[in-house]
Amino acid sequence: MSDDKDNLDITTQLVHASGRNQPPTGQPTATPIYASATYTYESMAEIDRVFGGELPGYIYTRYGNPTVTALETAIQVIEAGATACAYSSGMAALHAALLACELSSGATVLASQDLYGATTNLLQAILGPFGIKTVTVDFANLDEVRSKALEIKPRVLIAETISNPLLKVCDIDAGAEIAREVGARLIIDNTFASPYLCQPLKHGADFVVHSATKFLSGHADAMGGIAVSRDAADSMALIGVMKLVGGVLSPWEAHEILRGVKTLAVRMDRHCENARALAKRLSNHSRIGRVYYPGFTSADRQEVANRILRECHLGALISIELKDNSREAAFGFMDALKLCVRSTSLGDVFTSVLHPATASHRDLSPARRRQLGITDGLVRISVGIENVNDIIADIEEALGA
Ligand SMILES: *Cc1c(COP(=O)(O)O)cnc(C)c1O
Repeated sequence: MSDDKDNLDITTQLVHASGRNQPPTGQPTATPIYASATYTYESMAEIDRVFGGELPGYIYTRYGNPTVTALETAIQVIEAGATACAYSSGMAALHAALLACELSSGATVLASQDLYGATTNLLQAILGPFGIKTVTVDFANLDEVRSKALEIKPRVLIAETISNPLLKVCDIDAGAEIAREVGARLIIDNTFASPYLCQPLKHGADFVVHSATKFLSGHADAMGGIAVSRDAADSMALIGVMKLVGGVLSPWEAHEILRGVKTLAVRMDRHCENARALAKRLSNHSRIGRVYYPGFTSADRQEVANRILRECHLGALISIELKDNSREAAFGFMDALKLCVRSTSLGDVFTSVLHPATASHRDLSPARRRQLGITDGLVRISVGIENVNDIIADIEEALGA
C-alpha cells in the first residue's frame, strides 16, 4: 500500500490517515501516555525476535507498556529491588506477591492480625478454598511471632510497615530474621509508610507491596498497585501473574501515579510534620481518651519506629479514640467537620477521616474488633498537606460541637 493516503477511500482514510508517526524529534520531557494496546514492527522477522526475547520491545500492553514501565522503573529504583511490577490495584499487587511465594495447597501464611481488612479477606475467602491456611498473630509481639512461626512452619509471613488503624510500626528486621529461621518469605505492605519513609527490602523483606492509590498517587484520582521483589529469581513469578492473571495497570493510571511519585518527598515531609503537630495538639484534649501515633509509644516501640522509618518522620496518620467511646460520638464528630473529608482512603493531599469500626473493619465481629482494640469511638485521620492551623481549627471545632 502506498504512503499516499490521498488516494484511499474515506472509510480507509478514517482508520489510517492519522498515521503511526515515528517518535517526534525532540524528546518529551514528561513520560507520554502510550495509549496503545498493541505494537507493530517493520517485518515479521522482527516481531518473531521480539516474541522470542532476542530483541527488546513491546508486543501487547498486558505484557508491558512504556508508560507503565516508567512507573515500574521508578519504584524498582526507589525500593532498591530486582523487579517492580504494576497492577490495577493494591489488592492485585498483594495477590501477585502472595502467588509469587509459591503458595500451594497445604501451605500456611502467618499474617499480622492488624492487616488491611481486604488483605485478610483475600487470604481467607479467596486463597482459603485452595487449601491455603492463614494464622494471625500480633506482629508487635515478636516472641509470639517466633513461636507461632516455629510451630506452624509458614511459607509466608505478611505484615504492614505501619498497621491500620492503630499505627504500630513493624520491626521488619526482626520479622525477616524469623522468616529466614523458618524458611519463609516475608511480604511487607509498605502503603502507609511509602518508600520515602521506609524501604523494607533493605530491612530483609523478600517482597514489598504498595497500594499506589494512596501516598504514591496522593491526589485521590488514580488506582493502582505495585509489587517489588528483592531477588531477581522472583521476577518471573511477579511478571507471570501480571501476564496471566491480567490485573495490569492502565497507562492512564500509571501516568497519574508517576506524576504523584515525583512530589512524594515534599508531600510526605509536610504530611508528617502536620501529623506530628496535630497529634501533639490533640494529646491532651478533654474529649479525647487516647491518641494513637507512633511517637506516643513505649521506649522500645519508639526505637523500632526510629530504626524503620525515616528520621523525624513518624507517618501521616493519627487515630483518636473519643472519651465517649460510642459510634454516635464518632459520627457526630465526623459529621461536624467542615474541611476534613469523610472518605474511605488515605494518603491524599487533603486531610481525610475514616471510622474503622464501620469501614475497614466492618466485616469483623464486634468481639473480634474489641480484641484488636478497634472501638466504636475510634476515628482514623490521614493528615493532609494543608496549613496545619486550619486542620487543627476544623478538628477542635468539630470536637467541641
Ligand atoms: C488501600 C490499601 C490496600 C488496597 O489497595 P487498593 O489500591 O485499594 O486495592 C492494601 N493495603 C493497604 C495498607 C491499604 O491501605
